[in-house]
Amino acid sequence: MKKVAFYTLGCKLNFSETSTISRQFEEKGFLKVDFQENPDIFIINTCSVTENADKKCKKIVKEAKKISPDSYVAIIGCYAQLKPTEISEIEGVDAVLGAAEKFRLHELLGDFAKEQEAKVLASEITEARTFNNAYSINDRTRTFLKVQDGCNYGCAFCTIPLARGKSRSNTIESVLASAREIAATDVKEIVLTGVNIGDFGIVDGKRNERFADLVYALDEVEGIDRFRISSIEPNLLTNEIIEFTATSKRFVPHFHIPLQSGSNTILRKMGRRYLRELYEDRVSKIKTLMPQACIGVDVIVGFPGETDELFLETYNFLNELNISYLHVFTYSERANTRAAEMDGVVPMKKRNERSKMLRILSEKKRRKFYEENLGKTFTVLFEEDVENGKMHGFTENYIRVAAKYDPMLINELKVVQLDQINEAGNVEVLEPEMVYERH
Ligand code: SF4
Repeated sequence: MKKVAFYTLGCKLNFSETSTISRQFEEKGFLKVDFQENPDIFIINTCSVTENADKKCKKIVKEAKKISPDSYVAIIGCYAQLKPTEISEIEGVDAVLGAAEKFRLHELLGDFAKEQEAKVLASEITEARTFNNAYSINDRTRTFLKVQDGCNYGCAFCTIPLARGKSRSNTIESVLASAREIAATDVKEIVLTGVNIGDFGIVDGKRNERFADLVYALDEVEGIDRFRISSIEPNLLTNEIIEFTATSKRFVPHFHIPLQSGSNTILRKMGRRYLRELYEDRVSKIKTLMPQACIGVDVIVGFPGETDELFLETYNFLNELNISYLHVFTYSERANTRAAEMDGVVPMKKRNERSKMLRILSEKKRRKFYEENLGKTFTVLFEEDVENGKMHGFTENYIRVAAKYDPMLINELKVVQLDQINEAGNVEVLEPEMVYERH
């Protein structure tokens, strides 16, 4: 039995895809092992957004060859699509597969026999037109279910459309079938994943279905307790979706909405499809209907042309906004993007300073959000990890809680009362039993 190991860089989408590819291997009779367990084959799923993608890729290949010098190493993923030739020249790489090829490893690489030269099988990104269904099964608690891939937007800083291609989706019927399959494995929460999930519904270049209808249909799936919409563009987060979430028992009140900049000047330069006023309106709509909702925000600092004044516009905008946490990205130039050619380059030192300011703001926002919810009752889905006698889990509105370890609670949804914030920044809960007695 040949042994295969996987390594994934990047986002939830990559994780869901690696997981599906690993199941393909298991179905073909391979044994999935950990990276250090002398695999015969390594599959490395790369990311183009990660800082120093090339160095990381080299490092992992080197590590793989140290562990199993005679192993077969295949590189897939966004970075493989963008730079196939460079990657094929890395010592130890046997094959590089692009976006249109990565789900066809067995068909294209046969028995994974090593050859003199590395194989490069990466067609033009325009060839990546089919949707490949994928979901992750990493632990029993939560699954990332891919419902959409690619993007038709052309934000000035972004390489994802070059690495993943045009927007395309699964069908509602097929997503429902996957959700039912997942429900049968006892997973309690599904995180809907995609590049631009609000754009769900395009099949073969034609819009056939709507994201809102997918949400309605999933809400009826028996056996899944929670659905989380991972990240959705503000212009696609409609009142219809927000209003439905407010009444749904399964779609949780947690939204992650990319803002990228709080300055309209920068938003226009980025080619984003909304202005800050629309963003403000989305946040206010959510908070009016669901005061306890968690709202996460992606923001990029140091985009070309971001002067001190324009950065302050972003800072002040976020400071005033009723949001719960930030994911801060320091802008870095990416080849073949419009932004890389723009004037007004912000010195790296400034980018880092701005990033630090927003990270501090994020901590303040998170703490305030947690504090507002202390004393209230929520449902926590407890996870498997144990740290110093404590186990963790998330509430429906994405508050990370810590509770005394109890193996009976793993993968269980329990009603708890939030008590206080501990040193690690998690929220301690009153003993679940104590809450039950009160209910
Ligand atoms: S919406 Fe913009 S940032 Fe997001 S994937 Fe599409 S092009 Fe990239």
